[in-house]
Amino acid sequence: MATILSADWVLPVAGPPIRDGAVAIEGGRIEAVGTRDELGAGVEYAGSAIVPGFVNAHSHLEYAVYAGFGDGLEFAPWIATHIERKARIGVPEMEAIARLGAAECLASGITTVGDCSFSGATATACDELGLRAIVYIEVFSPDGTTEQMESRFRAQRERIEGSLSDRVRVGISPHSLYTATLELWREAAALYVPMATHLEESEGEHEWLRSGTGPFAAHEPFARTRLETLAAEGLLSDRLTAAHCVWVDELTIDLLAQHGVAAVHCPRSNAVLGCGIAPLRELLDGGVTVGLGTDSPASAPSFDMFEELRAALFLARARERRPEALTATEALELATIGSARALRLDDEIGSIAAGKRADLAVVSLEGSPFVPWEDPAAAVVLGGSPGRVTATLVDGEIRYERGAFDWHELRQKGAEARDRLLGMPPSRDT
Ligand SMILES: [Zn+2]
Repeated sequence: MATILSADWVLPVAGPPIRDGAVAIEGGRIEAVGTRDELGAGVEYAGSAIVPGFVNAHSHLEYAVYAGFGDGLEFAPWIATHIERKARIGVPEMEAIARLGAAECLASGITTVGDCSFSGATATACDELGLRAIVYIEVFSPDGTTEQMESRFRAQRERIEGSLSDRVRVGISPHSLYTATLELWREAAALYVPMATHLEESEGEHEWLRSGTGPFAAHEPFARTRLETLAAEGLLSDRLTAAHCVWVDELTIDLLAQHGVAAVHCPRSNAVLGCGIAPLRELLDGGVTVGLGTDSPASAPSFDMFEELRAALFLARARERRPEALTATEALELATIGSARALRLDDEIGSIAAGKRADLAVVSLEGSPFVPWEDPAAAVVLGGSPGRVTATLVDGEIRYERGAFDWHELRQKGAEARDRLLGMPPSRDT
């Protein structure tokens, strides 16, 4: 028998909001969407909206406790600090951090992550906590050898094999054009798994890739791979998502659109690191599939998808100097069906429609500072917060419920791992 959830509003995203809406769930999938009158009230969420679970198309759960590292530094020394500290911890710490990250995502109504993972720990965490994920194992070219990449990918994959499933899938992430050589890109593409990368994030990266000069040159990047070369070699495809895309020009936008490469907009991360504001409208108008991602507390301060939605809306309007540059409804689409398209999971998730996976978030709007009741998308986007998420469901199962979630151990283990990252003896009780 189907489980019914109902609320003041259901926002299918696939269609207009449904007042006094209900969702019927059977066998982990959405059986029907309609009104309470049609489907029955079932479990009633008063003063609330049911939305598709957010799809966080670019994250690093393993950086959940990296808050403030290198804040205020230029991008090149920032990333150098980051790499140096990361070397101080092992897989158990990375798993502890990733668990905290996965929990914070669920608490923010996120049901899927496209996660770039240094150790693969994201897979373990998402399997345990019930979050849907594509876990892109990160590979770099410290010395340009492909054997290293292959053995690294194989070793990580083998280690996380038991955590992989239909819900938690593996991919690969050549980290960027300045850390992965053409040869590594070739090898990564030959694996025929989903791919993710970081693209045109900072001005320094842009300058290094274009002319081999600028602040990146002093840090001797591993590579200077051109996007045009990847295109010419047939290595760009719709299996690839490219996070950031801040410094893209018309030519790059054309390349992304032509080859079906999706962009992931990370407005808070780009703002915090002083990288700029991605040209969201140009990307969309240029035919690029665009999703939304929180990145991680290493740059953006949190996995809070509501803050990301607001940043996307505010910055798009500020950049374009027009209030219709991004509506609340469009922002919500970016974080749900847009991100699902970016991860090529839109047949299964990203909207509330019969036949799709029952990945849902229930957002309470009671007491919210911004409640235009007649416009629930604006109420969710402009007034929502993790504190207002009552429940998060993945495959129809409640994976997070406000007030019924044990944060204590997750936070403590995360804090211990942070001490190690900072090179401090663990200072907290175990
Ligand atoms: Zn990233």
